[in-house]
Amino acid sequence: MKLLHSGKVRDVYLDDSRDPGELILVASDRLSIYDVVLPTPVPDKGALLTQLSLWWFEQLGVPHHVISQDVPAEFAGRAVRCRRLEMLPVECIARGYLAGLGLQEYRRHGSVSGVALPPGLVEGSELPEPIFTPTTKAPVGEHDEFLTFDETAALIGADRAARLRDLTLSVYTRGAQTAAAQGILVADTKLEFGLDGTGAIVLADEVLTSDSSRFWPADRWAPGGPQFSYDKQYVRDWSAGLDWDRTPPGPEVPAEVVAATRARYVEVYERLTGRSWP
Ligand code: ATP
Ligand code: MG
Repeated sequence: MKLLHSGKVRDVYLDDSRDPGELILVASDRLSIYDVVLPTPVPDKGALLTQLSLWWFEQLGVPHHVISQDVPAEFAGRAVRCRRLEMLPVECIARGYLAGLGLQEYRRHGSVSGVALPPGLVEGSELPEPIFTPTTKAPVGEHDEFLTFDETAALIGADRAARLRDLTLSVYTRGAQTAAAQGILVADTKLEFGLDGTGAIVLADEVLTSDSSRFWPADRWAPGGPQFSYDKQYVRDWSAGLDWDRTPPGPEVPAEVVAATRARYVEVYERLTGRSWP
C-alpha cells in the first residue's frame, strides 16, 4: 500500500497489488476543529464515519465512488475501496439553516455565496429553501473561501457547476428528509464530487456524517443562539474556555470531553441508521 495523501482526518492509499484506478480511503480517529487536528483521538470515530457514509451511499441513489469494504485487515471497518476520481476543486455545501460560516457571511453581506437571503434571520433560522453555497478547497493551513455560482462556473464550467448544484441540493434534501423522520435536522452538509474516466460526475469522499454536516436534534431546535449539535461543536465549545488561539498545536482533550463526543457520534449513527453500534 502506498500512502498518496494524509488529510486532517483521512488517509488515502493506492493498493499497488490491485487496479490503479482504485483507492483505499481510511478514516482515522483524528478530530480536527478550526482546521487544526487535535492530539487526542476519539475512539471508533473513523469506523462510525465510514459506516454512516456507507449507509447513506446506499440510500441516496446517486452515482458514488464506493466499490467495497475489501480493505487490508488493519483498516477493517473504517475504510472503503473506492474508484479513484479526478476531484473537482469545490466543496459543495448545502444549507437549510443558518449556522457557522454561513451565519457569519450572512451577517456581513446579507447573502451567502452570492445567494441573497431575507433580512431578519438569526442564528439557527431555517432558510426559505435549501441553498447551494460552494467554497474553494483550500490547501492545508488555509481556510476555504465562499464562491458565487458564477465563480464556480468559471472554475469548472457552467454545465458542471449547475450539475453540482442540482446534485448537492438533491442529496441534501433527501438526507434532510430521512434524518427528519428520526428527529434530526441537517442544518448543512458538505459534499465532494469527482469525475470518472468518462467525465461523469460521481459523489465521493464521505457523505452526511457528523464531520461533514451539522446535525441538530429537532426537539431542541431554538433559533436565536447556538444549537445543541451532534458533532464537534461540543469540542469547539470546550476549547472556547481555553487560552488557545486556534493555531497548531491544538490542546489535549480531557477524557470526559472525548467520551461525550464519541457518544454523540454513536447516537447519530444509531438514530439515522436504526442500527445499534457496534
Ligand atoms: P479536510 O477534509 O479535513 O479538509 P482533506 O480534505 O485534505 O482535509 P481528508 O478529508 O482527511 O483530507 O482526506 C480525504 C481526501 O481524499 C480528500 O482530499 C478528498 O478530496 C479525497 N478523495 C475522496 N474521495 C476520493 C476519490 N474517490 N478519488 C480521489 N480522491 C478522493
Ligand atoms: Mg476532506
